[in-house]
Parts: sequence; structure tokens; C-alpha cells
Amino acid sequence: MNTQVQTRTFEHLLDVIQPKAGGREIHDPATGAVVGLAPEHNIDDLQAAIAAAHAAQPGWALLSHCERSEYLNRAADAIEIYAEALAELLSREQGKPLNGANARFEVQGCIGWLRATAAMEVGPEILIDEGDTRAELHYKPLGVVGAIGPWNWPMMIAIWQIAPALKMGNSVVVKPSEYTPLSVLALAHVLNTVLPTDVMHVISGGSEVGAALTGHPGISKIMFTGSTTTGKAIIRSSADSVKRLTLELGGNDPGIVLPDADPAAIAQNLFWGAFINTGQTCAALKRLYVHEDIYDQVVDALADVATRVPMGIGLDERNMLGPLQNKVQFDIVSRLVEAARDSGARIVTGGNPDPDQAGYFYPVTLVAEIDNNNPLVSEEQFGPALPIIKYSSVEKALKMANGLDVGLGASVWSSNISTAREIASKIQAGTVWINKHAVADPRVPFGGAKSSGYGLEFALEGLKQLGQPQVISY
Ligand code: NAD
Repeated sequence: MNTQVQTRTFEHLLDVIQPKAGGREIHDPATGAVVGLAPEHNIDDLQAAIAAAHAAQPGWALLSHCERSEYLNRAADAIEIYAEALAELLSREQGKPLNGANARFEVQGCIGWLRATAAMEVGPEILIDEGDTRAELHYKPLGVVGAIGPWNWPMMIAIWQIAPALKMGNSVVVKPSEYTPLSVLALAHVLNTVLPTDVMHVISGGSEVGAALTGHPGISKIMFTGSTTTGKAIIRSSADSVKRLTLELGGNDPGIVLPDADPAAIAQNLFWGAFINTGQTCAALKRLYVHEDIYDQVVDALADVATRVPMGIGLDERNMLGPLQNKVQFDIVSRLVEAARDSGARIVTGGNPDPDQAGYFYPVTLVAEIDNNNPLVSEEQFGPALPIIKYSSVEKALKMANGLDVGLGASVWSSNISTAREIASKIQAGTVWINKHAVADPRVPFGGAKSSGYGLEFALEGLKQLGQPQVISY
């Protein structure tokens, strides 16, 4: 193997990012094998990273939008070169398969998002231009942005935070989840092969360094994606320094299947809307409300898809679903499915993880004849279980869909788009999809309603939230 090819392997990436001494073992959730060692950064390391990011930020901000876009495109080129190595590392650490809407898809998503962000520009807006009277709205860099992410889509979510922050002239300190630090450290290493020194740093650690980042007076804004509980802690700890916040928090997305939907036609999109990334997706379909006229057909159509989707070790190219990422998540799903079973609900598929199988594999679990008050419906289970609730009138379905204090995504399923649009407008959620679910696009803003957070990501709306608005008026 020549040297150039060697540097593009997952072993090489691990070699570069692992600490020379010490470090915390990261285990493959599919096998329990050690993937690598993650550095354990402390508060001094965090201080040093913030100081370096501060020193680099003014020079970065002086570049034109075009020049920064060139860097983002070069970063995308760099990821392309390392794409397979990054996907392999992600698959080993997070558990998601290489194939399907999984590890390779996530790496390609990083490339696409960088390019899409590079192509956008927030220019000054002329608000008034009347004779001698003029008002202009400019967006200036905020300074150093802190980016904190979860373990479900670690690379993708890091890029969702890093790309717009850099594009708007900020430098960034990233704090990945302690469950999946290697993926983000490797991604950052690749980005840093082309970015100017110190505009992006990664701090590897848990809630302690996370909290220190959110309380640090040198950080102007926190981009946070994670649970609602942590989001509330961040609101409190960032209050003293009046930080800007974008909070992408927990969800429990409802889907309403109207009586005119065709069960066979929607089954694939319904299934992947719920089980993408083995259900570990904030805006996956988590509660399905199906009209009584087509309830049995929808349950059967979903069960039919479920039996044909292979789950297993991510590096096996045949698998489309992987394990849960960690034991905490495995235990949450197990507890909630058992509570549903005990309540008399019908487990249509799954529900019985194999105790002899290594790893945190939990089978695709469809639960029918379940009450809307069941904890499997009302709590965020964040795994491969889908409660399917029968309804008799659309008003009742809407009431149940809107009955929780979260509102990230939702969907309506129908063969009539205008009826679906009308129902969609009555759902309390940041995004309502029609005949699909959990589909993101860099041109379309994304954010939560209610306790699912505030602020927007993606598109020009997302970019603007990484800038400090300034009006110049005369
Ligand atoms: P989490 O809140 O436990 O952790 C997220 C990150 O916050 C981690 O990096 C963690 O180390 C850090 N953290 C923990 N305590 C902190 C503190 N006090 N101060 C600062 N940082 C702290 O979430 P998770 O379990 O990693 O992820 C799953 C959750 O994320 C689910 O609720 C899911 O819905 C949500 N999520 C939301 C979105 C969205 O776009 N809305 C996307 C993905 C995941």
C-alpha cells in the first residue's frame, strides 16, 4: 500500500486522534470490541482551545464570504478523500451499518451540507432606501461558538453546527458526545487538514467540560443538539453570560394516517421514517395514529417490511439496521416495551432481544392495540419501537398528536395532498412532512416547537442565527 492510501484508512485516522498515553476505551456497540481510545480533555484543555479559537477568529472573520466558502468546499473535498475510512470508524463506534441511510450516507451528508452551506450567503439587507434615509441590516460574526452534540448522528450533527458557524466568520469549539468522540475527532482531523490553524477545535469529554463550555464567558453562542433535560441545564448555565442559543432538543414525533391513505403505498416510507438509524433519530416517527378503517392493513404492511430488513453488525454490507448505541438506550427501550406488553398491548414484531447475542441489538418492535397514555407512547424511547394507536376521528388524532409538550417533527399520510396540508397546519411541530418523515435538506430550515427547542438550523435562516445582526441607519 502506498503512503497516500495508508493515510486514508480508518486505522490511520485512529492513530492520529488517539492520545499518546492514557485515554478512555470506546467500545463497538455491536460486538463490545474496543474501537479505540478517546482523549479525556479537562478544563485546562478547554480553556486553551477557547483561547486559541479566540486568537484565530479575527483573521478568519477578515476573509470574504467567498474565501470562507472556498475553505468549506475544500473541507468537503477532504472528506471525500477520507469518506470510506470515516464511514468505517463511524460504523464501528456508533454501530450504524455502512449501507443504507447509515454510515456512508452520514459521511456523504457531511459533504453535501458543507457544499450547500458554502453556496449560501447572508448579504446585507437594505431595509429602507428613500432619498437621504437608509437602513441596512448586516450580520457580523459572533466570535467563538461552542457546539455540543449527541451520539446518534455524531458527524452529521457536528457539521450542521460547524459549517454555518465557520461560514459566518466565527471560530468553533466542538464538544462531541462522550459515546462517540472518535467519529467527531476524526472528522475534525480531516477538516483541519485544510482549514486555517485554530479556527476549529474539538474537546473530548463529558458533561463536565460541556457545562464549562456553556458557562464560559469567552463563548458567544452555543449550538446544542441533545436531550431536553440537558438543554434546560444549558439555558441556566449560559444565562450569566447572556449567550445566544440554538437548542435542538428531544422529540416524540406523531404521524397521522388518514383513512384515504394506501397502506401498501406508504409502508416503506412509514417504516424508514420510524426506524431510520434504528429509531435513534430525534425527528423519527415515534407514535403512529392510524384510522380504524385501515388500521389492520397498515399494521400488516409495516410488519411485512419489518421482517425483510436485516439487522446486524454494521460492517456487514447486507445489514440495514444496527444495534442501539449504548446500554442506557437499550435499557430504556427494553423497559418501555415491557411496560407496553404488561399493559396488554399486542407485540406484533420484535420485543424479545436475543440474550445470547453480543451487542445492544434490539429487534424492530411494532406494538398494536396500545393506549395513548402508555409510557411507550408518551416518553421519548429513541429506539426501534413503534406504538400504533387506533383512532376514530381526525379531531381525536390531532388532540393526541398535540398532547405532549414536545414538537419537533410530525407527519400526515394521505392520498389527498390538500386534505393532508390542512391537517398538517393544525399540528404543533417545527416540521410537518406529508407522506414521508425525518427527511432533512440544507435548503429547508429545521427547528423544534414547544420543549423541542428554539432557534433554527439550515438554510439562510440558520446561517443568520450564527451572526450578530447590526443595523446601520441614517
Ligand atoms: P444528552 O443531552 O445526554 O447529551 C448531549 C450532549 O450534551 C453530549 O455531548 C453531552 O456530553 C452533553 N452534556 C451533557 N450534560 C451537559 C451539561 N450539563 N452541559 C453541557 N453539555 C452537556 O443527549 P444524548 O443522549 O447524547 O442524545 C439524545 C437526545 O438528543 C435525544 O433526546 C434526542 O431527541 C436529542 N436529539 C435532538 C436532535 C434535534 O435536532 N432536535 C437531534 C439529535 C438528537
